[in-house]
Amino acid sequence: MSVHWRLEKDADQILWLIFDKKDASVNTLDREVLQEFSSILDDITMKPQYRGVVIASAKKSGFIAGADIKQFSQFKTIADAEVAMTEGQTIFNKLAFLPMPTVAMIDGFCLGGGLELALACTYRVVEESEETRLGLPEVKLSIYPGFGGTVRLPRLIGAPKGLWMIVAGKTLSGKLAAKWGLADVAVPRRQLVQAVKHYLLNQPPKHQPNPLLKLVDKKWIRPIAGHFMRKELRKKVNPVHYPAPFAVLSNWQLMGVTNDAAFKRESKIGAPLFFSETSHNLVRVFFLQERLKGLAKAGTTIKHVHVVGAGTMGGDIAAWCAERGFRVTLQDVTPQLIAQAIKRTSASDRLIGDVSGEGLATADLIIEAITEDLAAKQALFKQVEAKCKQGAILATNTSSIPLAEIATALTHPEQLVGLHFFNPVAKMLLVEVVQGTETSQMVVDEMMGFVRKLDKLPLPVKSSPGFLINRILMPYLLEAMRLLDEGVPMTTVDAAMTSFGMPMGPVLLADTVGLDVCLSVAKHLSQYYKVPISKRLSTLVEQKKWGKKTGEGFYQYDKLGHHIKPLTQRSKQSIKLPTTEEIAKRLVDSMVREARVCLTEGVVADADLLDAGMIFGAGFAPFRGGLMEYAKG
Ligand code: NAD
Repeated sequence: MSVHWRLEKDADQILWLIFDKKDASVNTLDREVLQEFSSILDDITMKPQYRGVVIASAKKSGFIAGADIKQFSQFKTIADAEVAMTEGQTIFNKLAFLPMPTVAMIDGFCLGGGLELALACTYRVVEESEETRLGLPEVKLSIYPGFGGTVRLPRLIGAPKGLWMIVAGKTLSGKLAAKWGLADVAVPRRQLVQAVKHYLLNQPPKHQPNPLLKLVDKKWIRPIAGHFMRKELRKKVNPVHYPAPFAVLSNWQLMGVTNDAAFKRESKIGAPLFFSETSHNLVRVFFLQERLKGLAKAGTTIKHVHVVGAGTMGGDIAAWCAERGFRVTLQDVTPQLIAQAIKRTSASDRLIGDVSGEGLATADLIIEAITEDLAAKQALFKQVEAKCKQGAILATNTSSIPLAEIATALTHPEQLVGLHFFNPVAKMLLVEVVQGTETSQMVVDEMMGFVRKLDKLPLPVKSSPGFLINRILMPYLLEAMRLLDEGVPMTTVDAAMTSFGMPMGPVLLADTVGLDVCLSVAKHLSQYYKVPISKRLSTLVEQKKWGKKTGEGFYQYDKLGHHIKPLTQRSKQSIKLPTTEEIAKRLVDSMVREARVCLTEGVVADADLLDAGMIFGAGFAPFRGGLMEYAKG
C-alpha cells in the first residue's frame, strides 16, 4: 500500500503513476516518498505488457517542488549525505531503465529533485505557460543536484546550456524548456493528456543535443570550455562564498556526462557541500523567507490601487501592482510624468493615468510616493482624506518620516500605514509594513495580505525614523563616508564590502540611492539619533552631484549608469590605511550597533525577522545567514 503515490491503468494499457504527497499542499521528495516510488518501480518492471508509464502530480501547485529541505538539512555525517544521494540516483536509474517508455507530465513547478526525476524519464511533456517552471536551483542553497541531475541535464540539452542552468540556478518556462530541448513538447493544459499518449504510443526518438553541442563534451574540449565557463562564473560569484557551482564545473571537466562514473563523482563531491557554513546559512535564509510569507495570514480585499507620485518609486510601484492584476490609477502633477511611468510597464491596460486624481474616490488603497518632504506629504494626505471613500487605506512610501508626523494632518490616523518598497521595486523582495502608534491592526493585516498578493515579502515593523532597514543602513553609509574623510580610497571601501559579500559597496550604494535622498534621510534621522553627517556628502549635494542619476556623485557615471571613475580623493599619506577586514568590521559593526537598538526598541519583533529584512531589503550577504546571525560570530 502506497501512501503518497497512486497507480492507475487506462484503456490504452498505459500506467498512470500519480504523486500526491500525503498531508501536503506541495509535492516534495523525502526518503519515504522515494522508497515507495522505488518499490512501485520494482512492480512495474515486472509488467512489461504495459505500453508506457506516465508520472504526474495530483497537486494544483505543480509537479514536484524539489527535495524536502528540512530532511536534507538534518544529515548527520557526510557519509549519510552521500548514501542519500546514491540511493536517489539508484532509484532514478531504475526509472530510466524500465522496460517501457516513460513520460513526466509537468504542469507547474518542476524543480530540483523533481526535475531530476523527470530527466530520468524517456520524455517530458509540459504545460506551456510561464507558471510552469523547470530548473535545478540547488546552488541557491550552496549544494548541487545530487540525484543524477548534473549528469543528465547537460547530457540532454548539451553542456553549455545544461551547465549554465545548474550553476546559475535558472528556471525555464514551459515554452522555453521545449525550445531548449529540456521538454519534448509544450502544450496548453487541455492537450497535456493527448500529448502524453502521443509520445508513449508512437515512441518518437529521444531528444539529443546536436552534434556540435555533443562535441563540447569531448575530453579535449572540456578543459578549455570549462576554463571559459569558470571565468564567466567568477564575474558573478565568488568561489570562496559559493563553492557549489564551481564544483559542478570541475566535475564536468573531469568526467563529462557520457561516462556513468560521473554519477559516482556527483555524490562523492556533492555530499560535503551540505556541511558548509554557507549552505547552513542559505538553508536558514530559505526558512526565513518561508516565515515572512507565512506572516500574511489572510488574502486581501484590495482591488483598486491609486498611486500618487509617478517618479522612480511611484511609477514602478504602480506598474508592479498592475502587473500583478490590480486596477491602478496613477497621479502626478503633469500628464508627461505619468506617461513616462506608464511606458515602463507591460500591463498598461490596467494602469490608468489620472492627473486630476479621480481615482481617489473609488480606490481601496491609496499609496503616496511623492517627494520626501513632510509638509508636502501632510498637505497631500489632507486632500486625499477629503476625497477618498470611507474605509480606504492610506499608505505612504516615505523612507524616513515617522508616521505620527504625517498623521497629524489626518482625521482618521488609524487608516494610515507605511508601505515601504525598496529600489528597484521589481528586484527587491521586501516591503516594510509600517505600523504607527495609531494604525489599526486591521489595516496592517490587510496590507500584509496585499504585499503577498504582490509576490513580495511583507515585514511588519513599528514606525521609527528610517523604520528598520534604512535606520540600520544609514549609520553604515555614514561610517563609509567617515572612512573616506580619513583618507581611505572609496574603491578600497567598496571592495572591502563586496568581498564581505554585499552586492555593492556602500559608496556605490549611496550614489545609487541618490546622495540627495541619503542626505535628506540622514538629516531627518540626525534629529533623532545624533548621526554626524559627512561634510563631503553635503558638499556634493550642494554641487548637484547626486550620484548615478546626475552622472556624478562619489563616482562618475557613463550614459548607461556604469561607474567609470571615482572622485579624485587626496590620500592622506601619513595615515596607515586599515586592512580590508578592518574596514568591513567597522562598517558591519555600525549596522550591528543600530540593529541592537532597533531590537531593544521593538522596531521589529525578533532577530530572525531583522535578518530576513536586511537580506531581502538591503541585500545583506545571504550566505552570512543575516546580520545578527553573523554578529553571533
Ligand atoms: P521622485 O522624485 O522620483 O518622484 C516623486 C514624484 O512625485 C515626482 O514625479 C513628482 O512630480 C511627484 N509629486 C510631487 N508632489 C506631488 C503632488 N503633490 N501630487 C502628485 N505628485 C507629486 O521620488 P522617489 O525617489 O520616487 O521617492 C518617492 C518617495 O518614495 C519618497 O518619499 C522617498 O523617500 C520614497 N522612497 C524612495 C526610494 C528611492 O530609492 N528613491 C526608496 C524607497 C522609498
